Amino acid sequence: MTIPYRKILDHIRLAFPQPVSDRVHDSYLVHSIMRAVDAVDGLKSERPILGERTHLDYAAAKTRHLPEQGSTVESLTQELVEYCSGLTLWGHPRTQQNVVPPVTISSLIGVLLSSLYNPNLAWDEYSHRVALAEVEVAAMMARLVKYDPERATGFFTFGGTGTTLYGVKVGIEKALPGAMEHGVREDVVIFASDESHYCRYNIAGWLGVGAKNLVTIPTTPTNAMDTGILRNEAVRCLKAGKKIGAIVATLGTTDAFGLDDLRSLVFLRDELVQNFGLPYRPHIHADAVIGWAWSVFTDYSFEENPLGFRPRTVRALAGVCQSIRDLSVADSIGIDFHKPGFAPYISSMVLMKKKEDLGLLQRPPEQMPYLYQFGDHRPGMYTLETSRPGTGVLAALANLKLFGKEGLRVILGHLVEMAQLLREHLESHACTTVLNRDNFGPVTLFRAYPDGVDTFQVKEKEMHDSAYRESLLIHNQYNRDIFEFIHREGMAGRGVMLSLTDCYRRTEYGEPVVALKSFIMSPFVDESHVEMVVKKVLEAREMLGGKG
Ligand SMILES: *Cc1c(COP(=O)(O)O)cnc(C)c1O
Repeated sequence: MTIPYRKILDHIRLAFPQPVSDRVHDSYLVHSIMRAVDAVDGLKSERPILGERTHLDYAAAKTRHLPEQGSTVESLTQELVEYCSGLTLWGHPRTQQNVVPPVTISSLIGVLLSSLYNPNLAWDEYSHRVALAEVEVAAMMARLVKYDPERATGFFTFGGTGTTLYGVKVGIEKALPGAMEHGVREDVVIFASDESHYCRYNIAGWLGVGAKNLVTIPTTPTNAMDTGILRNEAVRCLKAGKKIGAIVATLGTTDAFGLDDLRSLVFLRDELVQNFGLPYRPHIHADAVIGWAWSVFTDYSFEENPLGFRPRTVRALAGVCQSIRDLSVADSIGIDFHKPGFAPYISSMVLMKKKEDLGLLQRPPEQMPYLYQFGDHRPGMYTLETSRPGTGVLAALANLKLFGKEGLRVILGHLVEMAQLLREHLESHACTTVLNRDNFGPVTLFRAYPDGVDTFQVKEKEMHDSAYRESLLIHNQYNRDIFEFIHREGMAGRGVMLSLTDCYRRTEYGEPVVALKSFIMSPFVDESHVEMVVKKVLEAREMLGGKG
């Protein structure tokens, strides 16, 4: 039997939003979305996950093939919803796992609109006012970090990794003019701290620099790059005839919210240019994908404290501002709205202090015959990506306007307030110790110890004294066991979901320090959830018999 294709096409057409206004069909579209949202709601409970976590059968997944016949929007909605089962609810007050944010309704609408009408930011011919939105966000961010908005420029890219990739790429072009054309044919080094994000390895590898030309600089006990060591390494590389591709500073490291001292890095860079008579200025990229949001506090009056934060919070926020206010000295900055910007993945922007720097990446128009024949806003002429979606742009713009500076201060201030409260609680118990005590972010790294360990001294001893190697390793395992207990309890809806870091830092004698990690990102976290963390740690100790 044959079915004329036209009959099937009629069905297929119904599955698209209608190109010409059709109110009846619009309500079908909205209703379909509503049914999906409603069905997911049915998966919610007291627990910080949707539905159930079941065994993931990858073998069965590999047996799938493209179905012969299609399906309907209705039955597919139900199928798609099932894929949400087991996902973590980042906004749940019992979730304190990592720097993954819950997302706002406005940012979702931004994503939805952009997905519905599918603009392509490569060229304003294909994105029109969404291209304008990208320029607006860049202008807001340039002003926020105190770049000259006339000279600066910014655009969205594929994640925080992409922002650092752009920064380093521009740096390589400065150090090795024409690398875009001729390739990287000399040794060029990239500096970053040992607490910087591991994407540095990818970037060095993918840009043809080679991971062996990545120079990882140790950090001080406060998790900031040791500028003395950087100086020695930079001098050593320059004396060996190598070029400096980029210095990557991290403002807000992923594990401990460490903050590099940008001003010292710039001072050092300028000194190297002088002393070595360098024909280029080594590029300094600030990986501020987490820290950027704290810029909203650089003009907050900590003295008057109009939002009424607790004194400890005020001190913490002011502490972050000491470093964050220097962002404008960096040559480029990476910003993730999908971290402390409460937008869905992917929403990341790279800001360039001087728009001319992008000229280093520009391709000649002859290489792109099918695009960019007219118009003057054509980011696709210098971006790595060809197609770039508008989703991240509208999500970011939505949140920046939804919160405003005040809203961002309130939400970040609350996260820091909760983290500070957690630290107070942890410090008040003899059996727990906070590792990143001098740090001011929303992440707390801590360790628990069995009875009889002097937690006032053990931290220092384990860090510096190799005679404590065995004790350190035993306590690493002890904290893993505590984590296992808390995780099981959290999954069962009792307690809080934390995470574990296998290596908060290395000790002086080279062993990793395992730590429990609380990263507070949900505006729904309150005092009771912070107290619950401590309660669960104590319960876990009880369960382990208090002994190591
Ligand atoms: C998360 C993170 C990155 C990577 O960002 P993606 O958006 O995941 O690509 C880079 N640097 C730091 C400091 C990060 O925390």
